[in-house]
Amino acid sequence: MPAVVNKDECVGCGACVEVCPQEAITMDDIAIIDVNECIDCGACVDECPNGAITIKE
Ligand code: SF4
Repeated sequence: MPAVVNKDECVGCGACVEVCPQEAITMDDIAIIDVNECIDCGACVDECPNGAITIKE
């Protein structure tokens, strides 16, 4: 499963965009993850200051 953004917790800081090796994340009001590019690496999960990104098993 690709990484999922919790829209209630994402504040749109953009921290995750910088760390994604796949450049799978773009910003609108919140982070948008391209499910076709995400490789489930978890880099964005570790980077998010709000814990807004999770990878579902
Ligand atoms: Fe990018 Fe990795 Fe996050 Fe997927 S899990 S969106 S590849 S940083």
